[in-house]
Amino acid sequence: MSDIIPCPAPPRLALDGDSRTFPVSRIFCIGRNYADHAKEMGEAAEAIFFTKPATAITCAAAIPYPAGTEDLHHEVELVLALGEGGAIIASGTGVDLTKRDLQARLKAKSAPWEIAKGFDNSAPMGALRPGPPPAAGPISLAVNGDTRQLGDLGQMILPPQDLLARLGRYFALRAGDLVFTGTPSGVGALNPGDSVAARIEGLPPLDFTLTERL
Ligand code: MN
Repeated sequence: MSDIIPCPAPPRLALDGDSRTFPVSRIFCIGRNYADHAKEMGEAAEAIFFTKPATAITCAAAIPYPAGTEDLHHEVELVLALGEGGAIIASGTGVDLTKRDLQARLKAKSAPWEIAKGFDNSAPMGALRPGPPPAAGPISLAVNGDTRQLGDLGQMILPPQDLLARLGRYFALRAGDLVFTGTPSGVGALNPGDSVAARIEGLPPLDFTLTERL
């Protein structure tokens, strides 16, 4: 038996201090996990879940500004990496890039968010650090050196284990899954040429620049 098409290799994330890599299978995301961000979006602080395809992962230093938006937003997030049985084996710094204008139109129609959230290169990731995620500490994002987002991991409405328990009602979590845990307040627009620095204390940094529009 042979496949009719070549099977694409999964995207792989580097592990800090370990020569092995983490192959990404699925990406789950939570919305509204920090009360101050829910408030700035004019939404109730009630968890909602969505997914991105694994193809959204990028570790590139330069990311093209995507087509189909005039309002690309940054959302810095703690990202959990799951091993056997859905246990957390590592964590890292990620950005949930969002086409905010498109998302607003979809929200108004009660339509799914995939085209605003799951586009190519919509999930830039830094390296993962093996071990349990930090329970508290600063999470921040700066654009061209100006801090735009600054929160604390301790502000999460659903901390990692509670979040996994909730997500586990809907999906059998397994090795290869990544979970984006939501963003603090201060989300805003990115433009071609911007340099983004996402930081979570104790985890590898994430830096990228946006290049010209596709
Ligand atoms: Mn997000």
